[in-house]
Amino acid sequence: MLYEHDEFRDVTRAHSWASGLFDGKIRLPVGPTLPPARDLEHLLVHEYAHAAIHDLSRGRAPRWLHEGLAQVLEGTASDPMLQVPGGLTLAGVEALAGESDPLRARAGYDIALWVVRDLLDRGGIEALRELLSRLGAGERRRRGDSARLRPAARRARIPMASNPGRLMRPTRGRG
Ligand SMILES: [Zn+2]
Repeated sequence: MLYEHDEFRDVTRAHSWASGLFDGKIRLPVGPTLPPARDLEHLLVHEYAHAAIHDLSRGRAPRWLHEGLAQVLEGTASDPMLQVPGGLTLAGVEALAGESDPLRARAGYDIALWVVRDLLDRGGIEALRELLSRLGAGERRRRGDSARLRPAARRARIPMASNPGRLMRPTRGRG
């Protein structure tokens, strides 16, 4: 559904930084003039990804998975110099990505993108598809939200891609 910008804020109560919203329906703010075709395409792919993820996971995918995957699909590159705060957990990323403060939310989105890219690097799109259907089937994630993200980039300042497979480390065993 398309809205004027003011109308979009009124209807969705979205944070000021939101450029689109999926709540079961795709809702997009468009001004008197359309954004450039390229931006619009990214926006549509991003919001459509939310719809597909929502469907596959039957609404059970966490926000970090939604936003990370939607950004991957729209073609957003990860920041190789991304600095992940030490001790940050998936629950922390989840909270960060939903903040009303645009800078904090941006950080949450960047980290979510990085986490999903890491999952893709390790298991490919099939592994993610499987994760989504497991969530859809009601299975709880085995690695809890308290699993810490390894602050590899912060320590080494090296591109994430050169350190695959060690970027996330659960503090506790499976359970
Ligand atoms: Zn989104």
